Amino acid sequence: MTLDELSLDTSYIECLPADPQAANFPRQVHGACFSWVMPTKTSAARLLAYSADAAALLDLTDEDCASKTFSDVFSGNQLLTGSKPYATSYGGHQFGNWAGQLGDGRAINLCSIVNKRGESWALQLKGAGPTPYSRTADGYAVLRSSLREFLCSEAMFYLRVPTTRALSLMTTGDTVVRDVLYDGNPQPEQAAVVCRLAPSFTRFGHFQYYAEQSLELLKVFTDYTIQSSFSHLGAPDKACYIRWFNEVCESSCDMVVEWMRVGFVHGVMNTDNMSILGLTIDYGPYGWLEAYDPSWTPNTTDANEHRYAFSQQAKITHWNLYQLANAIYPLIEETEGLELALRNFAERYARQWLLMMNNKLGFTTTQHEEEDRQLVEQLLAFFALYETDMTIFFRRLAMLDPAGELDFEGVVQQLSPAFYEETMPEAIQQALRDWLKNYWQRCQQASTTASERRELMNKTNPKYVLRNYLAQQAIEMSEQGDQSLLHELLAVLKSPYDEQPEKEHFNQKRPDWAKHKVGCSMLSCSS
Ligand code: AMP
Ligand code: MG
Repeated sequence: MTLDELSLDTSYIECLPADPQAANFPRQVHGACFSWVMPTKTSAARLLAYSADAAALLDLTDEDCASKTFSDVFSGNQLLTGSKPYATSYGGHQFGNWAGQLGDGRAINLCSIVNKRGESWALQLKGAGPTPYSRTADGYAVLRSSLREFLCSEAMFYLRVPTTRALSLMTTGDTVVRDVLYDGNPQPEQAAVVCRLAPSFTRFGHFQYYAEQSLELLKVFTDYTIQSSFSHLGAPDKACYIRWFNEVCESSCDMVVEWMRVGFVHGVMNTDNMSILGLTIDYGPYGWLEAYDPSWTPNTTDANEHRYAFSQQAKITHWNLYQLANAIYPLIEETEGLELALRNFAERYARQWLLMMNNKLGFTTTQHEEEDRQLVEQLLAFFALYETDMTIFFRRLAMLDPAGELDFEGVVQQLSPAFYEETMPEAIQQALRDWLKNYWQRCQQASTTASERRELMNKTNPKYVLRNYLAQQAIEMSEQGDQSLLHELLAVLKSPYDEQPEKEHFNQKRPDWAKHKVGCSMLSCSS
């Protein structure tokens, strides 16, 4: 299959109302779901990296990806035959406040491709220039944030976390100015474009924005969404809308459970950054837990409120779903079904979270809910006392053999690479000893063998995640023209659950130099 032979799915632009204004200038768009817009031509696009597995979703080979056409198309310089690019309108609650129209301010949808398996994949360029929704911004993206989105999207996929995918990362040859910390230090930076893929990029904010305008627009869009992405739910009617909302609650819940499993903090869970398919979307100032800290957020914009901190993510997802329920209520005119789905979310999350934590500890099922929960809470309480890298901790825990006597000194030795401090104070030793005793007991009660336990743990607890400082190192090298670390990380993160002995240096807790370094565990929305 070559790029010119890809078959297009044009249903979005055929079924939904277009903005009649063809010119590209910032404006409020009403009564339409999207505006036609062309990507801006770049001066000297250069492919830095692509994901062969994402390319395979479009039936593209390595040879296709190495072609000039690939670079031309995915930098926005050339259109695939039949592609009619557009930007969509949406709104959203940002940090809890209704922000009105937002929209694809720097995302341009090229087209949707139907692959050999009949799957439809929407192609979106991020950073390809201004659109009618750019408001006061420029529509471009810098290399650092683009590299972070590219690598993390693929890393999350391999971790089995629902996510949008990333096909390619290019620099455009152009420069954009950004003030990284919003402190009056604007600097020129290299501009970049990521091409991302998803079955759909529809967000909660789409429904919110159309609901604000008219029932008719809301209905057209919702019915299209159901028919194109949720056709298994049947023809749209009131009962179907409730089934659909319930499914959105479930997939959003399951996504957050996976974030909690791997230690991911999204950082900007505004309703415009919530995918209707329950995919992780819009990688901005996201981060990975370093020392386990429920109140941690990488986003400096949220430093005071911690609204989107690690431990808040389920609560915020629920809040966002509540806003979606409000938006679609006029289609249903009854609160009961929506309320039930929201209640189910809370129950499902509690159940799934406990099961996930049990899996992390090596238990296939929840045995006694209350006792299991206590065992997990007791461990998290220990983490609160003593700075611990969760990723290293669980992998090391899997190496222990809880069949025999507990050799406390030996166990501490084994777990020590996960700890930030050198020596553990007596009181904290006691807390760990108490937990280990309970854990040993629970392991001995479980019917699983030692190797089954280890296998479950090692497929639940990743060894390699995109540590904040690793991404920053890859960025600094990439900015200097060296893409080797970017490529190496992409390869390592493809098998995050495998032991990769020669890559052990990517499985180290945060070094001291990265503790307060901008771009590592401190990020802003500047991108
Ligand atoms: P985000 O915080 O990335 O989810 O973005 C929030 C809104 O701001 C979305 O409507 C984006 O399209 C828009 N936006 C962010 N950065 C830019 C930019 N550089 N140019 C135009 N719009 C932007
Ligand atoms: Mg966004």
